Amino acid sequence: MMLDLQALGFNSLQQPQPGVWIGKSAEMGLGEKIEVVSPIDGSAIASIQLATPAQVNQAVEAASQAFRHWRTVPAPQRGELVRRIAEQVRQHKIILAELITLEAGKIPQEALGEVQEWIDICDFAVGLSRQLYGLTIASERPDHRLMEQWLPLGPVGVITAFNFPVAVWAWNAMIGLVCGDPIVWKPSEKTPLCALACQHLVQRAIATLPDVPPEVCSVVIGKADVGQTLASHPSLPLISATGSIPMGRAVATTVAQRLGRSLLELGGNNGMIVAPSANLELAIRAIAFAAVGTCGQRCTTLRRLIVHNRIADNLVERLQKVYRSLPIGDPNQEGVLVGPLIDSASGEKMQAALETARQQGGKIFGGDRITEGVPKGGVYVQPAIVEISPDAAIVQEETFAPILYVMRYETLEEAIAIHNNVPQGLSSAIFTENFREAEYFLSPAGSDCGIVNVNIGTSGAEIGGAFGGEKETGGGRESGSDSWKAYMRRVTNTVNYGTALPLAQGIRFLD
Ligand code: NAD
Repeated sequence: MMLDLQALGFNSLQQPQPGVWIGKSAEMGLGEKIEVVSPIDGSAIASIQLATPAQVNQAVEAASQAFRHWRTVPAPQRGELVRRIAEQVRQHKIILAELITLEAGKIPQEALGEVQEWIDICDFAVGLSRQLYGLTIASERPDHRLMEQWLPLGPVGVITAFNFPVAVWAWNAMIGLVCGDPIVWKPSEKTPLCALACQHLVQRAIATLPDVPPEVCSVVIGKADVGQTLASHPSLPLISATGSIPMGRAVATTVAQRLGRSLLELGGNNGMIVAPSANLELAIRAIAFAAVGTCGQRCTTLRRLIVHNRIADNLVERLQKVYRSLPIGDPNQEGVLVGPLIDSASGEKMQAALETARQQGGKIFGGDRITEGVPKGGVYVQPAIVEISPDAAIVQEETFAPILYVMRYETLEEAIAIHNNVPQGLSSAIFTENFREAEYFLSPAGSDCGIVNVNIGTSGAEIGGAFGGEKETGGGRESGSDSWKAYMRRVTNTVNYGTALPLAQGIRFLD
């Protein structure tokens, strides 16, 4: 594959790449130099000089300056910027998807889908820029108006994970921009090139609008220390952080110290119940896509399958047949559906989890490392199906790899109890043709997750809904619905247009 790198703003990947991009000014980071590695074959594709905390502070200062102007630009004009960004993304969709494949190892269909998410959230945000509504509320006082407005919040720090190197930032940034907030982005250090390409496309759109300060979008590349510098910065009223639960705990603690706000999108341990009435043809396709898509590296990956006793043997047998024929390998090869894990540490964690599952009584199908017929240097694995007791400790954990734990149940109440008995609460699903079961799963006594589906899998959300989960998943909501409210400050206004000064609750004072 020959990537048209210049179209994405790279002159040559032979030179070290900038670790800091403040508005339109790209600078070398003054920190450590790291290599960017393609998970396809483990080769070094670029090097990058990481940002130092002092450079992060400069980016935040520039965003604070930009905010002073950006907050006064009418929201529909802010939407015009996002509309122009979407034009850039549409023009560069295929090539940006190729970069995602190279840097994150996704198959082209999924990489294109990720860029499409950026386009979709742009369209949503442009419409939203004319709909940032507040309420008018009945005042108890005569000749008074009580209302609320939603005003820009301030610069937002966005920390993202490797597995959605474009879309997660886009959910935050496109909505944040129409809300009037500049964005300082710290991408995963495993996928910095995607971030630099996004910044290039955003700056091209900004250059077409003279009234937009380029510093409304900046990128700082680094590891946990750079994330912590953002989290601790008092000029960032909101930190939106996507990643593992330990990362979320560390970020939330730092942000809480300064009483800032955090929006957390953390790990999932997603379950699906398959009831006796389920349409198994649909269920098997949904299970396969959700369990092995992106090689099990989605926050919404299906990790726990809770199957009724009556159909469990049949379902497991049919799933094993599907798993045996999965095309696994170089994501650029025609027909491949399962690409590599991100790195060898990830492969080791998968093997360790399978070993623990074995010790805890799990019966394992698949899971081996594949070395034949795949690019050398990449970590390719046979996705695993593990039949195990719901009481095994390992099923409480998210292992970021394609391991599907299968458990059995007899009554729906038992299935829901198994389903909810994990610390995470992101995505969930039930397959059933029985509407009472489906409704029960959606009810207050059903799934305790933020995403609850019927007759579709756990992964592959649309941008129109709010995305996020409960419990240790962190409670944040991003993307569609009214998630935009997290990026604004709500102001309550009372206006007295009369000639008297009546007090609330009928209190009399100096009258
Ligand atoms: P990670 O936690 O290792 O890293 C995520 C980001 O946080 C990176 O940018 C990293 O540099 C930064 N970071 C790490 N430690 C930090 C610290 N102490 N302080 C500040 N920043 C820190 O996660 P990952 O391996 O890149 O991604 C996989 C994880 O992300 C999985 O747990 C997955 O479920 C989760 N995820 C969740 C969602 C969601 O929307 N809920 C979406 C994508 C990924």
